[in-house]
Amino acid sequence: MYFETILVTAGAGFLTIGLILSNDIVRTLKKQKLATPWIILRLLIFFFFFGYAFMAARFAGVDILTAVSNDSIVALVFFFGSVFVVLLAFLNRDLFANIFGVQMSDRQAIAKFLHYSKLDEDIDESQLKEIFDPLRDNCGKVIRYSIADIVRAHPLLERGIILEQAMGGKNFTLYLRHRCRDGFREIPVFHDCRLEYRSQKSSRLL
Ligand SMILES: [Zn+2]
Repeated sequence: MYFETILVTAGAGFLTIGLILSNDIVRTLKKQKLATPWIILRLLIFFFFFGYAFMAARFAGVDILTAVSNDSIVALVFFFGSVFVVLLAFLNRDLFANIFGVQMSDRQAIAKFLHYSKLDEDIDESQLKEIFDPLRDNCGKVIRYSIADIVRAHPLLERGIILEQAMGGKNFTLYLRHRCRDGFREIPVFHDCRLEYRSQKSSRLL
């Protein structure tokens, strides 16, 4: 049982590091009011920690709860371990989608754009499929883009495309994202109601 005691005690040590890191994450996310899933993950880490500490003590010959069998502990850790993994995978999927965008065909992206912008029929399909003239960021990078690219880069479309009612129809501000030297940057690009390019502003760091 000596080997098992060391292994489980080391595991409890790693969980302590996990708890400290999760505290940092919760603090960061609280400012954005997005902390709830990580509070649940932190509770699960607490649960694992007590399970590990309990087992380490049992291996070392100190049994606090004789009524609870090793099998029960293993089953509980297995079950909540899978809950932990699923929750973490959901969170990471959403996080990566926000950073790198979502996979979507041009057709799906254009359909999403039309649904969001509520444009009527006076925008023809070629305008929607157009790859606009490339833009140059201050960093020197040349970026090509289409409406579909903007839609894919922003799972929450209202963060990527801002609509403004103007005299001739709706004007658009598109936030064109690219990976720059100092991180991800977005260039606000203005397009008119015919989706023609009008102007751009300096990029901003995300
Ligand atoms: Zn750049």
